[in-house]
This record gives sequence, structure tokens and C-alpha cells, in this order.
Amino acid sequence: MKFSEMSYTRPQVQEIASQAESLKKRFADARSFEEADAALMKWDSMIAHVDTMTTLAYTRHSIDTTDPFYEAEVEYIDEQSPLITEIQESFVRLLTESRFRAQLEEKYGKLLFLNAEIFLRAFSPAIIPETQETNRLETEYQKLIASAQIEFDGEKRTLSQLQPYKQSPDDAVRHSAWQKEAEFYTDHASELDEIYDKLVKLRHKKALKLGYDNFVRLGYLQMNRNCYTPDDIAKFRRAVVQYIVPVAEKLYRKQAERTGLAYPLCYADASLRYRDGNPRPQGTPDDILAAGKRLYHELSPESGAFIDMMFKEELMDVLSKKGKAGGGYCTQLADYKAPFIFANFNGTSDDVEVITHEAGHAFAFYMARDIVPHDNQSPTLEACEVHSMTMEFFGWQSSDEFFGKDAVKFRQSHLFGAITFIPYGTMVDHFQHIIYENPDMSPESRHEVWRELTAVYMPWLRLDGSPFYGEGKAWQRQLHIYECPFYYIDYCLAQTAALEFWVIMQRSRKEAWERYMKLVRKAGTQTFTELLATAGLLSPFDDNALREVAEAAEKWLDSQEHVSA
Ligand SMILES: [Zn+2]
Repeated sequence: MKFSEMSYTRPQVQEIASQAESLKKRFADARSFEEADAALMKWDSMIAHVDTMTTLAYTRHSIDTTDPFYEAEVEYIDEQSPLITEIQESFVRLLTESRFRAQLEEKYGKLLFLNAEIFLRAFSPAIIPETQETNRLETEYQKLIASAQIEFDGEKRTLSQLQPYKQSPDDAVRHSAWQKEAEFYTDHASELDEIYDKLVKLRHKKALKLGYDNFVRLGYLQMNRNCYTPDDIAKFRRAVVQYIVPVAEKLYRKQAERTGLAYPLCYADASLRYRDGNPRPQGTPDDILAAGKRLYHELSPESGAFIDMMFKEELMDVLSKKGKAGGGYCTQLADYKAPFIFANFNGTSDDVEVITHEAGHAFAFYMARDIVPHDNQSPTLEACEVHSMTMEFFGWQSSDEFFGKDAVKFRQSHLFGAITFIPYGTMVDHFQHIIYENPDMSPESRHEVWRELTAVYMPWLRLDGSPFYGEGKAWQRQLHIYECPFYYIDYCLAQTAALEFWVIMQRSRKEAWERYMKLVRKAGTQTFTELLATAGLLSPFDDNALREVAEAAEKWLDSQEHVSA
């Protein structure tokens, strides 16, 4: 079914509650495993339906944030979703305590139950008021960012639409675009500080109510961390500083030489990879989509069928327009067994990423669409990012089509970006650990923390006290810091695994695809580290993983120096 034809009805909490009561009774009263299983399946499809309606509302709202209908629906859902979580909690508790648990574990896997227990530890009805308030503040942040109307190059532009200018090879244009962006954030500095301050304090309060010392533990539970701890992450951080930062620093020094810009680089100069400009996709958005379609057909029959469905059912909204929320994401509509891709094409290489990265997520969902219970369809988020970030590297085989004469530049700068992203992302996560361990920190001290971390993780950047960026406020652009605490490290863990796949692709694309499909086929039935083992990859918590990918990437990029870009 086409996205536009999918019908939305408000998920009414009263109705859900009464259905839940009867299903809970059915499950609790089950006299056999079969009866319990049947009740679980009924429950699963009810929750999948609620989830589908919620996703439809959020997605349509993000496509047009000015549409009053979906604005009201999102407001309603923000308000009601913690009540729905409470209803879920009561069923999940029954599930974990079921006398048929052993048989259910045998049928659906033990991980489902481990995850259920983590979910229970992260929730109590006592935190509903704070959750409602954080939902409201998160929406407020999103609206504030979407409201940007920046006068630039003769038109009012959103932050996404400003993006191409921020990479312009014309130094004056590029600097002015960064300046304009900084002005927008500076104009809203007090709102941005205030929203975050409230969010930190609300999250801390929730953690205390649940019996934790601070939000870190709760944040990990909310992210459903089922195979690693803050200590593992601290170890990963040290390996990033040891193995990745020096390579990244060398790459940026070379970039400064190539572009003739002063090192350490200011933010605006760090974003220019080549003197004559960053790689740009060739052709129109339709050309990019068409090249993407061919790519998925070349990769495998499964991915070919997948991409045909995405086009036929119009499951992508990728053009930037006024009122549309920023960023890009992939989501899924369980009732329709359909993924959906949201993006803002802007004429940069980001557009290609939509068709590789976001469609990588969508492909994994498509492959898992028949698995029940629905919770077994998707693994934890870092594993989902392995799906997408690895697909970006499979996209290299179409880089000539996507980028034409800029294909060489694209491959170099993609790998450059993959390596240099890891320190940034790790810093975003490290920042949040410090913030949530010190919930009473003032906004000014938070900016100071960001400045200090920047010196460790991104020593190639010059912090010179210029407005916004130089003041250590750049974290305020990072939606995840506001909306999805502790999410960001997932990208770094996933990037490490994706780079391991890239290393395999260098010797055999076929082998890499087969190992990738093994991982994708396991969907949500294994933990992140188990999935990596399934694909025969090292865990990112093994220092060797970062060391090996850093060495391989450095070697490859060195070998590219004579290749004219
Ligand atoms: Zn992603």
C-alpha cells in the first residue's frame, strides 16, 4: 500500500487499556503453552498497530510540521505514550513471570526475555509525569530547529537548506553560511540552554525515582544495552583516543595543506575537503534515486525486490521543503510491513547517503518484516547502524554513477569521514556521561566541558572564542543530545563494524555481502556483539578492532595520494 493511502486513527488509550486487560487475562489464565502463545501473538499485533499509528502521526508531522492535524496528534501521543508504556509494562511483567517462559524462550529466543527484563528495570508508573514533560520538551527543541528561516543567497532557508553553502569552496560564502548558522543558535541560546537544563534535571529525577544514582544507568537501560556496560564504553573511548585520533589528526593536517587553510582548522574550514569543493552527486534527485535502484538490483535479488517495493509504494519523502523537520531517518510501519524513509535532499553527498544509509536500515527491516514477535525484528540501535553504515560502503560500487567525475573524491572523503566521525561521536557520548553524572552543572560549565573534550577528541579544531562554535556550544546542534540520550555512541560502535566490513570488501565484495546478509538475517534475535560474531567480525570492545581499521584506512588513504581527485 502507498504511504499516502495508509489510514491513521488516533490510538485511544482507553481502548488500548481495555483490550490489554482482556489479553492479560487470557495470557495469565492460559492452561497450555499454545493458549499462552496465542495470547502473546494477539498482544503483539495490538502493540504493532499502536506503534504503526504512532509512527504515522510522527512521520506525517515531520513531513509538514505546520499541519495542525498531525501537530495535535503528536501532542496527544506525547502526552499519552507513557500511559501506553505503563500498559505494556503490565503485560511484559506477566510475560517474564509466565509459567510457560521456558517454552516461549525456546520458540522466540532468550534475548526477548532479557530485553523484557531490561525494559522493566527502566520503567515505573512513578516516572510518567517526568516522561510526559521530557516528551514535550523534545518536541519543543525539534520545532525550534525546524523554525529556522535564515536569509541566505536571496532566499529564506532552513538549516538543512543551508548545508550546501556550509561546504562551499568559496571561502567567503562558506564562512558566511557558518556565521549565519551560528547567529541562529546564538539568537536562541537561552532557549537551547533552558530546554537542555530541564531535560537533564527531569532525566535525573526519573533515575532517582527508579533507585539509580544518576541518569547514566537509566540511560543505558533505556537504550536496551544488553551486552556491554559503561566500563566497556570507557575502554572503547581510550582506544579511540589511542588509535583513531592520531590518524584523524594526520588526515586533517593533509586536508589543511591541500586546501591551503590554516591549521588547526576553524569549524568552517574543517568542512572543506578539497580546494575545488567537496564531492557532489551528479544529476537530479531522480537520477540519484534511479542509480540507487540499480545498486540494490546489482547487490542481490532480495535487495532488488526491496527497492522496487520502496518505489512502488512511495515509501520515501526525500526532498527538502518549507516546514519539513530537519535531518533524515528511516522508520517502519509494522501493520503494512513497510519501511519509510524521510530525508532532506540538499545537493551534497548526504543525498547519496539517504539511498545507501537510510535504505540500508529499510532493507534490514524489509528482510525482518515477517518475524514475530515484532520485538525480534530489530536488534539494538548500534546493530541497526551496522546495517546502514555498511550499506554506505556497499554503495561504493555505484559511486561512478552517483558522483560521476567526483567519484574518486567521494570514496576518499567517505572513508575520511568514517574515520574522523568516530572521535566526534565518542565525544558526544563522553559529554553526556559527564553531564548526567553532574546534573547540577550550569549551562556555562557544560560549554566548558565541550571545549575541553574537543581538545582531546578533535585537536584539529581551533576554538577561538568566535560566537557559538568557538564558545563550546556546538553540541546544541546535536539532536541526539536533546532527544535520545546515550544514542550517539551507537554510531561509533557501528562505524567500527562497518569499517571491518569495508576491509573485507577490499578483498572480496561477495564475501562481505554474504557475511552482511548473515548478520541482517538474524534481525533482532541476537545482541550486538553476537551479531558481529555471526558475521565473523571483531567486537569494537576488542582494541584490535579499532587498531586494525585505523591502520587499513590510513594505508588506503595514503595509497590514494597519487590518485587525482
Ligand atoms: Zn542510521
